[in-house]
Amino acid sequence: MIEQAILEITAELSQAKNIVIVPHKGPDGDAMGSTLGLMHFLKDKGHKVNVITPNDYPRFLKWLPGNDEVIIYEKDKANAENLITEADLVFALDFNHLDRSGDMQQILTASEAVFIMIDHHREPSDFANYTYSDAEMSSTCEMVYHFIDKLRAVPKITPEIATCLYVGIMTDTGSFRFSATSAETHRVIADLIDKGAVNHEIHNNIFDTYNEDRLQLLGTALQNLRVKPKFKTAYISLTQEELDKHNFQKGDTEGFVNYGLAIENVIFAVIFIENKQEGIIKISFRSKGDFNVNEFARAHFEGGGHNNAAGGKSELSMEDTITKFSTILPDYKELQQ
Ligand code: 5GP
Ligand code: MN
Repeated sequence: MIEQAILEITAELSQAKNIVIVPHKGPDGDAMGSTLGLMHFLKDKGHKVNVITPNDYPRFLKWLPGNDEVIIYEKDKANAENLITEADLVFALDFNHLDRSGDMQQILTASEAVFIMIDHHREPSDFANYTYSDAEMSSTCEMVYHFIDKLRAVPKITPEIATCLYVGIMTDTGSFRFSATSAETHRVIADLIDKGAVNHEIHNNIFDTYNEDRLQLLGTALQNLRVKPKFKTAYISLTQEELDKHNFQKGDTEGFVNYGLAIENVIFAVIFIENKQEGIIKISFRSKGDFNVNEFARAHFEGGGHNNAAGGKSELSMEDTITKFSTILPDYKELQQ
Protein backbone atom coordinates (compact mmCIF):
# COMPACT_ATOMS: atom_id res chain seq x y z
CA MET A 1 0.00 0.00 0.00
CA ILE A 2 1.55 3.27 -1.13
CA GLU A 3 2.28 6.19 1.18
CA GLN A 4 -0.32 8.38 -0.54
CA ALA A 5 -3.05 5.83 0.20
CA ILE A 6 -1.99 5.67 3.84
CA LEU A 7 -2.18 9.47 4.09
CA GLU A 8 -5.68 9.42 2.58
CA ILE A 9 -6.84 6.62 4.90
CA THR A 10 -5.33 8.46 7.87
CA ALA A 11 -7.38 11.51 6.86
CA GLU A 12 -10.53 9.36 6.54
CA LEU A 13 -9.93 7.97 10.01
CA SER A 14 -9.23 11.36 11.57
CA GLN A 15 -12.98 11.96 11.91
CA ALA A 16 -15.57 9.76 13.59
CA LYS A 17 -16.99 7.35 11.05
CA ASN A 18 -19.58 4.62 10.70
CA ILE A 19 -17.51 1.61 9.78
CA VAL A 20 -18.50 -1.90 8.75
CA ILE A 21 -15.98 -4.74 8.58
CA VAL A 22 -16.76 -7.81 6.49
CA PRO A 23 -14.92 -11.14 6.19
CA HIS A 24 -15.57 -13.85 3.59
CA LYS A 25 -18.40 -16.37 3.72
CA GLY A 26 -17.58 -19.34 5.92
CA PRO A 27 -15.28 -17.25 8.12
CA ASP A 28 -12.21 -19.02 9.50
CA GLY A 29 -9.71 -18.06 12.22
CA ASP A 30 -7.96 -15.51 10.02
CA ALA A 31 -11.24 -13.95 8.88
CA MET A 32 -12.61 -13.61 12.43
CA GLY A 33 -9.27 -12.66 14.00
CA SER A 34 -8.62 -9.92 11.45
CA THR A 35 -12.13 -8.44 11.51
CA LEU A 36 -12.38 -8.44 15.32
CA GLY A 37 -8.78 -7.25 15.77
CA LEU A 38 -9.42 -4.32 13.43
CA MET A 39 -12.80 -3.68 15.10
CA HIS A 40 -11.14 -3.19 18.49
CA PHE A 41 -8.46 -0.96 16.98
CA LEU A 42 -10.99 1.31 15.22
CA LYS A 43 -13.36 1.43 18.21
CA ASP A 44 -10.48 2.51 20.42
CA LYS A 45 -9.96 5.36 17.94
CA GLY A 46 -13.54 6.50 18.55
CA HIS A 47 -15.36 5.12 15.51
CA LYS A 48 -18.66 3.28 15.45
CA VAL A 49 -17.73 -0.15 14.15
CA ASN A 50 -19.68 -3.30 13.33
CA VAL A 51 -18.37 -6.64 12.14
CA ILE A 52 -20.88 -8.30 9.83
CA THR A 53 -20.19 -11.87 8.70
CA PRO A 54 -22.11 -13.32 5.74
CA ASN A 55 -22.94 -16.49 7.71
CA ASP A 56 -22.12 -18.32 10.91
CA TYR A 57 -18.65 -19.52 11.91
CA PRO A 58 -17.17 -22.33 14.04
CA ARG A 59 -17.78 -22.72 17.75
CA PHE A 60 -14.02 -22.80 18.45
CA LEU A 61 -13.84 -19.11 17.43
CA LYS A 62 -16.69 -17.94 19.62
CA TRP A 63 -14.53 -17.01 22.61
CA LEU A 64 -12.66 -14.27 20.69
CA PRO A 65 -12.79 -10.83 22.34
CA GLY A 66 -15.71 -8.96 20.75
CA ASN A 67 -17.47 -12.14 19.58
CA ASP A 68 -20.77 -11.11 21.22
CA GLU A 69 -20.95 -8.02 19.03
CA VAL A 70 -20.67 -9.86 15.71
CA ILE A 71 -23.71 -9.54 13.44
CA ILE A 72 -24.43 -12.55 11.24
CA TYR A 73 -26.06 -11.34 8.01
CA GLU A 74 -28.03 -14.55 7.43
CA LYS A 75 -29.65 -14.23 10.86
CA ASP A 76 -30.10 -10.45 11.08
CA LYS A 77 -30.55 -9.13 7.53
CA ALA A 78 -32.51 -5.93 8.17
CA ASN A 79 -30.11 -4.67 10.82
CA ALA A 80 -27.06 -5.62 8.74
CA GLU A 81 -28.45 -3.90 5.63
CA ASN A 82 -29.14 -0.70 7.57
CA LEU A 83 -25.62 -0.63 8.94
CA ILE A 84 -24.12 -1.20 5.49
CA THR A 85 -26.31 1.53 3.96
CA GLU A 86 -25.23 3.98 6.68
CA ALA A 87 -21.54 3.07 6.54
CA ASP A 88 -18.97 5.66 5.42
CA LEU A 89 -16.23 3.07 5.31
CA VAL A 90 -16.29 -0.67 4.61
CA PHE A 91 -13.26 -2.85 5.30
CA ALA A 92 -13.23 -6.11 3.31
CA LEU A 93 -10.88 -8.53 5.04
CA ASP A 94 -9.46 -11.90 3.98
CA PHE A 95 -11.14 -11.98 0.56
CA ASN A 96 -10.54 -10.23 -2.72
CA HIS A 97 -13.66 -10.83 -4.86
CA LEU A 98 -17.06 -9.60 -3.74
CA ASP A 99 -18.66 -12.93 -4.64
CA ARG A 100 -16.81 -14.40 -1.63
CA SER A 101 -19.16 -12.37 0.58
CA GLY A 102 -22.05 -14.69 -0.31
CA ASP A 103 -25.52 -13.18 -0.04
CA MET A 104 -24.04 -9.84 1.05
CA GLN A 105 -22.61 -9.26 -2.44
CA GLN A 106 -25.60 -7.27 -3.71
CA ILE A 107 -25.88 -4.88 -0.78
CA LEU A 108 -22.10 -4.35 -0.74
CA THR A 109 -22.09 -3.64 -4.47
CA ALA A 110 -24.87 -1.07 -4.00
CA SER A 111 -23.09 0.65 -1.08
CA GLU A 112 -21.58 4.09 -1.64
CA ALA A 113 -19.08 3.71 1.19
CA VAL A 114 -15.33 3.97 0.67
CA PHE A 115 -14.00 0.39 0.50
CA ILE A 116 -10.65 -0.74 1.88
CA MET A 117 -9.55 -4.28 1.10
CA ILE A 118 -6.84 -6.05 3.12
CA ASP A 119 -6.15 -9.54 1.84
CA HIS A 120 -3.49 -12.14 1.09
CA HIS A 121 -5.15 -14.22 -1.67
CA ARG A 122 -3.90 -14.28 -5.25
CA GLU A 123 -5.47 -12.43 -8.18
CA PRO A 124 -7.32 -9.60 -6.40
CA SER A 125 -10.20 -7.86 -8.15
CA ASP A 126 -10.41 -4.06 -8.00
CA PHE A 127 -13.71 -3.44 -6.24
CA ALA A 128 -12.13 -1.43 -3.42
CA ASN A 129 -11.05 2.24 -3.36
CA TYR A 130 -7.91 1.18 -1.46
CA THR A 131 -6.37 -2.23 -1.90
CA TYR A 132 -3.69 -3.71 0.35
CA SER A 133 -3.04 -7.08 -1.27
CA ASP A 134 0.01 -9.29 -0.71
CA ALA A 135 -0.11 -12.99 -1.58
CA GLU A 136 3.26 -13.56 0.11
CA MET A 137 1.76 -12.78 3.52
CA SER A 138 0.99 -15.57 5.96
CA SER A 139 -2.42 -14.21 6.85
CA THR A 140 -4.72 -11.23 6.76
CA CYS A 141 -4.10 -10.87 10.50
CA GLU A 142 -0.39 -10.31 9.84
CA MET A 143 -1.39 -7.68 7.26
CA VAL A 144 -3.70 -5.94 9.76
CA TYR A 145 -0.69 -5.69 12.09
CA HIS A 146 1.35 -4.13 9.24
CA PHE A 147 -1.59 -1.85 8.39
CA ILE A 148 -1.66 -0.63 12.00
CA ASP A 149 2.10 -0.18 11.76
CA LYS A 150 1.70 1.92 8.58
CA LEU A 151 -0.73 4.10 10.55
CA ARG A 152 2.10 4.41 13.13
CA ALA A 153 -0.18 2.98 15.80
CA VAL A 154 1.53 -0.25 16.92
CA PRO A 155 1.83 1.09 20.50
CA LYS A 156 -2.00 1.25 20.52
CA ILE A 157 -2.30 -2.54 20.19
CA THR A 158 -4.21 -3.78 23.25
CA PRO A 159 -4.32 -7.37 24.59
CA GLU A 160 -7.72 -7.81 22.82
CA ILE A 161 -6.29 -6.76 19.45
CA ALA A 162 -3.15 -8.86 20.04
CA THR A 163 -5.26 -11.93 20.88
CA CYS A 164 -7.43 -11.61 17.77
CA LEU A 165 -4.46 -11.10 15.42
CA TYR A 166 -2.51 -13.96 17.02
CA VAL A 167 -5.42 -16.33 16.31
CA GLY A 168 -5.52 -15.67 12.57
CA ILE A 169 -1.75 -15.87 12.12
CA MET A 170 -1.68 -19.13 14.07
CA THR A 171 -4.59 -20.78 12.22
CA ASP A 172 -3.58 -19.66 8.70
CA THR A 173 0.00 -20.87 9.19
CA GLY A 174 -1.03 -24.25 10.66
CA SER A 175 0.58 -23.15 13.94
CA PHE A 176 3.58 -21.52 12.24
CA ARG A 177 4.48 -24.53 10.04
CA PHE A 178 3.39 -23.59 6.52
CA SER A 179 5.89 -22.10 4.08
CA ALA A 180 4.31 -18.62 4.22
CA THR A 181 5.55 -18.36 7.83
CA SER A 182 8.45 -15.90 7.62
CA ALA A 183 10.91 -14.55 10.14
CA GLU A 184 8.80 -11.39 10.02
CA THR A 185 5.71 -13.46 10.91
CA HIS A 186 7.54 -14.62 14.04
CA ARG A 187 8.59 -11.05 14.87
CA VAL A 188 4.96 -9.94 14.61
CA ILE A 189 3.90 -12.88 16.80
CA ALA A 190 6.58 -12.03 19.36
CA ASP A 191 5.31 -8.45 19.53
CA LEU A 192 1.70 -9.66 19.90
CA ILE A 193 2.79 -11.79 22.87
CA ASP A 194 4.55 -8.73 24.31
CA LYS A 195 1.30 -6.81 23.88
CA GLY A 196 -0.78 -9.31 25.82
CA ALA A 197 -1.68 -12.32 23.62
CA VAL A 198 -1.44 -15.33 25.94
CA ASN A 199 -0.20 -17.92 23.47
CA HIS A 200 -0.81 -21.14 25.44
CA GLU A 201 -4.39 -20.12 26.25
CA ILE A 202 -5.07 -19.26 22.62
CA HIS A 203 -3.74 -22.62 21.40
CA ASN A 204 -5.86 -24.38 24.00
CA ASN A 205 -9.04 -22.43 23.11
CA ILE A 206 -8.68 -23.20 19.40
CA PHE A 207 -7.28 -26.74 19.30
CA ASP A 208 -8.21 -28.46 22.57
CA THR A 209 -11.92 -27.77 22.80
CA TYR A 210 -13.24 -30.79 20.84
CA ASN A 211 -16.36 -32.53 22.10
CA GLU A 212 -16.58 -36.32 21.89
CA ASP A 213 -18.66 -36.28 18.67
CA ARG A 214 -16.05 -34.21 16.89
CA LEU A 215 -13.21 -36.53 17.83
CA GLN A 216 -15.28 -39.56 16.75
CA LEU A 217 -15.93 -37.80 13.42
CA LEU A 218 -12.17 -37.44 13.01
CA GLY A 219 -11.97 -41.21 13.56
CA THR A 220 -14.44 -41.79 10.73
CA ALA A 221 -12.55 -39.37 8.49
CA LEU A 222 -9.27 -41.19 9.10
CA GLN A 223 -10.92 -44.55 8.37
CA ASN A 224 -12.14 -43.12 5.07
CA LEU A 225 -8.65 -41.91 4.14
CA ARG A 226 -7.38 -43.29 0.84
CA VAL A 227 -3.77 -42.94 -0.35
CA LYS A 228 -2.60 -42.91 -3.95
CA PRO A 229 1.17 -43.33 -3.56
CA LYS A 230 1.62 -43.20 -7.33
CA PHE A 231 0.41 -39.59 -7.28
CA LYS A 232 1.72 -38.60 -3.81
CA THR A 233 -1.90 -37.89 -2.97
CA ALA A 234 -4.22 -38.72 -0.06
CA TYR A 235 -7.92 -37.92 0.20
CA ILE A 236 -10.70 -38.19 2.74
CA SER A 237 -14.45 -38.22 2.17
CA LEU A 238 -17.28 -37.58 4.60
CA THR A 239 -20.90 -38.14 3.58
CA GLN A 240 -23.84 -36.23 5.02
CA GLU A 241 -24.91 -39.44 6.76
CA GLU A 242 -21.53 -39.72 8.50
CA LEU A 243 -21.69 -36.06 9.54
CA ASP A 244 -25.23 -36.46 10.90
CA LYS A 245 -24.23 -39.54 12.86
CA HIS A 246 -21.72 -37.41 14.77
CA ASN A 247 -24.01 -34.38 15.22
CA PHE A 248 -21.87 -32.30 12.89
CA GLN A 249 -21.58 -28.61 13.73
CA LYS A 250 -19.93 -25.88 11.67
CA GLY A 251 -16.16 -26.07 12.01
CA ASP A 252 -16.03 -29.69 13.19
CA THR A 253 -14.02 -30.79 10.13
CA GLU A 254 -11.56 -27.88 10.33
CA GLY A 255 -8.01 -29.21 10.05
CA PHE A 256 -8.98 -32.77 9.07
CA VAL A 257 -7.57 -32.34 5.55
CA ASN A 258 -4.07 -31.79 6.96
CA TYR A 259 -3.83 -35.37 8.21
CA GLY A 260 -3.24 -36.56 4.63
CA LEU A 261 -0.06 -34.48 4.52
CA ALA A 262 1.24 -36.26 7.62
CA ILE A 263 1.91 -39.33 5.47
CA GLU A 264 5.48 -39.61 4.24
CA ASN A 265 5.86 -38.62 0.57
CA VAL A 266 2.30 -37.31 0.30
CA ILE A 267 2.36 -33.73 -1.06
CA PHE A 268 -1.32 -33.32 -2.01
CA ALA A 269 -4.18 -33.83 0.46
CA VAL A 270 -7.86 -33.37 -0.18
CA ILE A 271 -11.10 -33.68 1.79
CA PHE A 272 -14.54 -34.03 0.17
CA ILE A 273 -17.41 -33.11 2.46
CA GLU A 274 -21.01 -33.63 1.40
CA ASN A 275 -23.49 -30.81 2.06
CA LYS A 276 -26.96 -32.15 1.17
CA GLN A 277 -28.66 -28.86 2.03
CA GLU A 278 -26.63 -26.93 -0.54
CA GLY A 279 -26.51 -29.89 -2.91
CA ILE A 280 -22.73 -29.74 -3.20
CA ILE A 281 -19.56 -31.49 -2.18
CA LYS A 282 -17.34 -28.89 -0.50
CA ILE A 283 -13.68 -29.60 -1.17
CA SER A 284 -10.50 -28.48 0.61
CA PHE A 285 -7.10 -28.86 -1.04
CA ARG A 286 -3.74 -28.67 0.71
CA SER A 287 -0.22 -29.23 -0.61
CA LYS A 288 3.42 -29.14 0.34
CA GLY A 289 6.07 -27.47 -1.82
CA ASP A 290 5.47 -26.32 -5.39
CA PHE A 291 2.27 -28.15 -6.24
CA ASN A 292 -0.21 -25.30 -6.75
CA VAL A 293 -3.65 -26.18 -5.37
CA ASN A 294 -5.05 -22.71 -6.14
CA GLU A 295 -4.65 -23.45 -9.85
CA PHE A 296 -5.95 -27.00 -9.40
CA ALA A 297 -9.09 -25.76 -7.57
CA ARG A 298 -9.70 -23.02 -10.14
CA ALA A 299 -9.22 -25.33 -13.11
CA HIS A 300 -11.47 -28.18 -11.97
CA PHE A 301 -13.62 -27.35 -8.96
CA GLU A 302 -14.86 -23.72 -9.25
CA GLY A 303 -12.61 -22.63 -6.41
CA GLY A 304 -9.37 -20.91 -5.52
CA GLY A 305 -7.24 -19.83 -2.61
CA HIS A 306 -3.49 -19.99 -2.11
CA ASN A 307 -0.63 -22.06 -3.58
CA ASN A 308 -0.75 -24.53 -0.68
CA ALA A 309 -4.33 -24.18 0.60
CA ALA A 310 -7.43 -23.78 -1.51
CA GLY A 311 -11.08 -24.72 -1.61
CA GLY A 312 -13.70 -25.52 -4.20
CA LYS A 313 -16.92 -27.41 -4.79
CA SER A 314 -18.59 -30.02 -6.97
CA GLU A 315 -22.22 -30.51 -7.86
CA LEU A 316 -21.70 -34.17 -8.77
CA SER A 317 -22.40 -37.00 -6.33
CA MET A 318 -19.63 -37.95 -3.89
CA GLU A 319 -18.76 -41.00 -5.99
CA ASP A 320 -18.66 -39.06 -9.27
CA THR A 321 -16.67 -36.23 -7.66
CA ILE A 322 -14.01 -38.67 -6.50
CA THR A 323 -13.98 -40.38 -9.90
CA LYS A 324 -13.53 -37.01 -11.60
CA PHE A 325 -10.72 -36.15 -9.17
CA SER A 326 -8.95 -39.48 -9.70
CA THR A 327 -9.17 -39.07 -13.48
CA ILE A 328 -7.48 -35.66 -13.35
CA LEU A 329 -4.50 -36.69 -11.19
CA PRO A 330 -2.47 -38.36 -13.98
CA ASP A 331 -2.47 -35.03 -15.88
CA TYR A 332 -0.19 -33.54 -13.22
CA LYS A 333 3.44 -34.48 -13.79
CA GLU A 334 4.47 -32.85 -10.50
CA LEU A 335 2.48 -35.48 -8.62
CA GLN A 336 4.21 -38.42 -10.24
CA GLN A 337 7.06 -40.26 -8.56
P1 5GP B 1 -10.70 -24.08 3.15
O1 5GP B 1 -10.27 -25.31 2.43
O2 5GP B 1 -10.14 -24.01 4.53
O3 5GP B 1 -12.17 -23.85 3.06
O4 5GP B 1 -10.08 -22.87 2.35
C1 5GP B 1 -8.70 -22.77 2.09
C2 5GP B 1 -8.41 -21.47 1.40
O5 5GP B 1 -9.04 -21.43 0.13
C3 5GP B 1 -8.93 -20.25 2.15
O6 5GP B 1 -7.96 -19.25 2.04
C4 5GP B 1 -10.20 -19.86 1.44
O7 5GP B 1 -10.40 -18.49 1.50
C5 5GP B 1 -9.96 -20.36 0.02
N1 5GP B 1 -11.20 -20.89 -0.53
C6 5GP B 1 -11.98 -21.87 0.00
N2 5GP B 1 -13.04 -22.14 -0.77
C7 5GP B 1 -12.95 -21.29 -1.83
C8 5GP B 1 -13.76 -21.07 -2.99
O8 5GP B 1 -14.79 -21.71 -3.22
N3 5GP B 1 -13.32 -20.10 -3.86
C9 5GP B 1 -12.18 -19.39 -3.65
N4 5GP B 1 -11.82 -18.47 -4.56
N5 5GP B 1 -11.39 -19.59 -2.57
C10 5GP B 1 -11.76 -20.51 -1.68
MN1 MN C 1 -6.60 -15.96 5.43
